[in-house]
Formats: sequence, C-alpha cells, structure tokens
Amino acid sequence: MEHFYTLQGEGFHQGRAAYFIRLGGCDVGCVWCDVKDSWDATRHPKIPIAEIIGSVKQHISAIHKSSRALPLVVITGGEPLMHNLDELTAALQAEGFETNIETSGAHPLSGSWNWICLSPKKFKAPLPGILNVADELKVVIFNRSDFEWAEQYAAMVSPACKLYLQPEWDKAAVMTPLIIDYIKEHPQWELSLQIHKYINVP
Ligand code: SF4
Repeated sequence: MEHFYTLQGEGFHQGRAAYFIRLGGCDVGCVWCDVKDSWDATRHPKIPIAEIIGSVKQHISAIHKSSRALPLVVITGGEPLMHNLDELTAALQAEGFETNIETSGAHPLSGSWNWICLSPKKFKAPLPGILNVADELKVVIFNRSDFEWAEQYAAMVSPACKLYLQPEWDKAAVMTPLIIDYIKEHPQWELSLQIHKYINVP
C-alpha cells in the first residue's frame, strides 16, 4: 500500500527511526480502523520484493552505517499476515535489517521476526499460535469493557511479553485518563500513545 521512513510512534519501539512497509489487505473489520483504504488488497499494486528491499536500502542503509542500532523495518497493514512473509523478511534480515511486525494475529504467522507486536482485535480473534511468541501485547482501548478484554489476552501471552494499553485515537480524550488510572492500579501495563499523530509524521 505504501512504504516510508518515519518514527515508530507506538509501543515498545516508540520513538525509533523506522522504515514502514504497509501491506494491503485486511479482513478484520475494526469499526474505528484508521487505515480502511488498506482493506481491499486489489486496490494496491503488487511490488516485487527486490524492489521493496531496494527502496529500504536506498533510504536507510547509508544513514545507519554510522549508527549503533540495527536499521528497523516495521511490516504493518492492513493485516500483514494475510500474506506469507517468509521471503520478504528473509531478504530484509539478509541485508542486516531488524524486522518487526504489527499484527492482529488473525492469520497464520509467517516470516522471521526480531519483534512481534500482537494487537488483538475483538472483530476477529487472534489464532492461538501467536500468543506464546508475541514480544509485545498492545491493546487498543475503545471503551471501558476493553480493560477486562485486555486482561484475558495478558493471561495468554508469555510472562516476558510487554503489555501496553493504547487509547483509540478518536476516544483518546476520554479513555487516556482511564488508562492512566488503570495502569497505576495494574503496573504490569504501560501506556502507548500514537505519538506520530501528535507530531504529525506518517
Ligand atoms: S486490524 Fe488494523 S487494518 Fe485491519 S481493520 Fe483493524 S485496525 Fe484496520
């Protein structure tokens, strides 16, 4: 759908420079989805993997040569696991990139990942296989009942999995104070804000 160099705005890697690859296609159907244009994969061109890798290298390889950090590539969507990601992620890692994914987990896991961010959605549940391997659980809080729903998933991921609560963007004014109170009572959770939207970057 699109690919661009920006800052990761959410979750554990929030604030890091990252090249985003947004894949078309999603059948999860969140009512509050902010990338509904991604849903129909046929509306977006197919791009050869070599061409995508070329774009990533052109944008960030030189910048990161003098950096201590591995250049970070985030695969998102849409729901990226609607595609088999083995070949794309193998090619990215072969070039020395760190591969992170943002997924609802609603399709079978493929690809080779340095970091898996699982963001389960009520509209289509994650498949059980991803729960144990998620590095980060990020739950979008749209209404009060989502706290209890978040805890159901926190009980299913591994003990090492980082836990984040993130206000749904249009409800942020109402839900963020509730999330702050909740985290103070349940400090195993941390706050994730979509900082890219506050600082106006993609
Ligand atoms: S999973 Fe993501 S892309 Fe798909 S409908 Fe939900 S928010 Fe939108």
